[in-house]
Amino acid sequence: MPIATVNPATGETLKTYDALGAEEIERRLAAAEAAFRTHRTTTFAERALLMRRAADLLEEEQQDIARVITTEMGKPVKQARAEAAKCAKAMRWYADRAEELLADEEPADVDVKDSGASRVIVRYRPLGPVLAVMPWNFPLWQVIRFAAPALMAGNVGLLKHASNVPQTALYLEDLFRRAGFSEGCFQTLLIGSGEVEKVLRDPRVKAATLTGSEPAGRSVASVAGDEIKKTVLELGGSDPFIVMPSADLDRAAQVAVTARVQNTGQSCIAAKRFIVHADVFDAFAERFTAGMKALKVGDPMDEETEVGPLYSERGRADLEELVEDAVEAGATVLCGGERPDRPGWYYPPTVLADITPEMRIHHEEAFGPVATLYRATDLDEAVAIANDSPFGLSSNVWTRNGTEVDRFVQDLEAGGVYVNGMTASHPAFPFGGAKRSGYGRELAEHGIREFCNITTVWHG
Ligand code: NAP
Repeated sequence: MPIATVNPATGETLKTYDALGAEEIERRLAAAEAAFRTHRTTTFAERALLMRRAADLLEEEQQDIARVITTEMGKPVKQARAEAAKCAKAMRWYADRAEELLADEEPADVDVKDSGASRVIVRYRPLGPVLAVMPWNFPLWQVIRFAAPALMAGNVGLLKHASNVPQTALYLEDLFRRAGFSEGCFQTLLIGSGEVEKVLRDPRVKAATLTGSEPAGRSVASVAGDEIKKTVLELGGSDPFIVMPSADLDRAAQVAVTARVQNTGQSCIAAKRFIVHADVFDAFAERFTAGMKALKVGDPMDEETEVGPLYSERGRADLEELVEDAVEAGATVLCGGERPDRPGWYYPPTVLADITPEMRIHHEEAFGPVATLYRATDLDEAVAIANDSPFGLSSNVWTRNGTEVDRFVQDLEAGGVYVNGMTASHPAFPFGGAKRSGYGRELAEHGIREFCNITTVWHG
């Protein structure tokens, strides 16, 4: 894949970049190592000052960077601005709390005496340069949710961003530098995915985090495993959205539309499979389909647009193939299903019913505004359909029945269960998946501790 900005709304290539050569990669790895030696000794207060400055800059510049994001990957500009604002919030969240989250811990007295120690301290020390391989779909947020905790913990970052968002990638490096982080603390490596292995095997790189597809995750985790380096993987999802008879149907259908089409449906935590109890299936399907049909699809730079183009021609073709495969195998199209005749990589909000396990879309991730509807006769069947997926990122359940909630929380195989709402990440909650959606957690205290050397300091 060339490193280039190609506008998904027009298909026009606006800017291409040469990948970094071996010498420049070497220079940057050396800079990362040198920066770590100093950065790790700075205080939390010093890091927090820089992180807050970066947050302020990002907030001031959100209009401009939002337009860059929309140009590079096609999300509606209003959503791009919201993404920038969310990043500033997460940066401040970690600036305010990192010291407390990584404070020394002392195991309880009784256990310490039992070990023969006079005192034991558990300290969270940084690891060093961490490689972050990131996707284009939330090109600021995915990076910040790694970078804010990593830098606050005393690590330094090397970003290999998706090849279609180079301007956003360069902006991020520039942002941290202008905020005052020293040279080498956060660097963007403009490289293709073929160069990742070499960087990851470099002894100066201590760990890696990857957000992206399963094949990319497998590749990075294999190399890291071979090198015995820690990884966090945030991979794909096909989250269930379960609606039970006691649910507020109007609200559930309204939220279901947003949950499916946020970011033009290209979100790992978008609800993708809608599993509805038979008693309310028709009523929900009617409301949901009406909501999907009513969405405003169009130019992502238009403030009113709710659904923009898909990020690439390939992305649209993949989605189309999934829909065609399902329709050939007997799925019913309740709306959408045909690409519009216009320039750019648009695909309409689409709802498919009568899904069966033979269809690819039952097991694969639909990365675009395509929803699948399932009818379940009871809670057990709803859980069984929900869990019949290789993914386990998050899940959404709609019910006013507390016993049902308990069952869902107990049985759904996912890293999140959102009750009467849609999945959304927040700095205060751990984020991550089960099964093939990956492992490890980002955000909250769990995220900041992933790339720490948890050190036991024992005093005799
Ligand atoms: P992708 O093709 O896997 O790309 C993600 C990143 O990995 C890019 O930087 C890409 O670089 C790189 N990459 C690809 N193949 C690689 C390999 N073999 N070795 C090393 N690096 C490699 O995924 P995408 O299409 O950009 O993103 C969509 C996927 O990400 C979806 O499956 C989505 O669900 C998932 N996602 C997950 C989360 C989460 O938090 N769980 C969040 C967002 C997205 P190039 O661009 O140069 O190929």
